[in-house]
Amino acid sequence: SIKKQFDQSVRFFDEELLSVLEKQKYIIDNIDKAIERDELKVYYQPVFSTKTGKLSGFEALSRWNDQKYGFLSPGEYIEVLEKYRLIHKIDIHMIKRICKDIKKLADLSIPYVPVSVNLSRLDFELCDIANVIESEIKKNNIPRHLLHIEITESVLTENADDLQEKIEFFQTKGYEVWMDDFGSGYSSLNVLKDYNFDVLKIDMLFLRDFESNPKSKEIVASIIEMAKKLGIDTLVEGVETKEQYDYLKEIGCNKVQGYYLGKPSPFDKRLISFIAKNVESKNLKDTNNLIL
Ligand code: C2E
Ligand code: MG
Ligand code: MG
Ligand code: MG
Repeated sequence: SIKKQFDQSVRFFDEELLSVLEKQKYIIDNIDKAIERDELKVYYQPVFSTKTGKLSGFEALSRWNDQKYGFLSPGEYIEVLEKYRLIHKIDIHMIKRICKDIKKLADLSIPYVPVSVNLSRLDFELCDIANVIESEIKKNNIPRHLLHIEITESVLTENADDLQEKIEFFQTKGYEVWMDDFGSGYSSLNVLKDYNFDVLKIDMLFLRDFESNPKSKEIVASIIEMAKKLGIDTLVEGVETKEQYDYLKEIGCNKVQGYYLGKPSPFDKRLISFIAKNVESKNLKDTNNLIL
């Protein structure tokens, strides 16, 4: 009967909602422990230069390997940690780990390779994130131009008063600042007018219907052309096929990232030897040229 169906779907809905809420509560209650127990890991996804075909850096992405739930992805915990104003705990931990990993490469005489880190708008409110970054890179002797800061478009469209100043601080110091998820929000062009980004990361939403929707290809090509006129490098994320890669190279996209080129990976022996084999030689200089 309809009533029975209704009761069942309500119960199903309740149970599902309850388990989502339980998981969220668990995340909030366990974030400190997870960091202490080293359950929060940095995964590195390679970024390639289309010009040289070589590795040009990595994006650092967090992964939570939890005792109860197993692998949690950022989609499950970033939003709730932002809601409860705890996100900076992850980001501070990530920065510390990333700097240690970069230092480890230098200790192994492997050239430094740039890493970009995702920051949340709240990091600027909840802690002195610039100070955290400054102190970690100094502690580990890492040249500033090898750490890139990724900020998502939505961050800059909400209530951005003093954020411009904070972003310029990073750039004055020598860090690169990258705009993440470009095209996924609304006042994108406004944001390009007010900030000087080093790299524009174009959201993968355009790629997802690339083959079936010719408009998406034209939009991406136009964004890349515009960025070039503004003197900003471009990166398209979510590249999954050779066809996508070839097209992006052809239209002048500078960097690419996606499963076609490499999935996010833990900092292990395999990754270290991958870096040693694939890094662009221009980074070799950086090892002997610490600008601190
Ligand atoms: P994002 O910064 O735009 O990162 C790119 C996302 O796309 C990552 O998802 C990555 O695993 C995924 N991806 C990469 N290549 C492909 C591909 O070829 N196909 C598809 N379908 N996906 C691909 P992930 O790791 O789940 O992260 C999701 C978002 O969570 C990130 O989006 C970023 O905004 C946020 N995030 C991740 N780690 C952190 C962190 O440590 N701190 C903060 N504040 N945010 C983080
Ligand atoms: Mg990112
Ligand atoms: Mg992105
Ligand atoms: Mg994204």
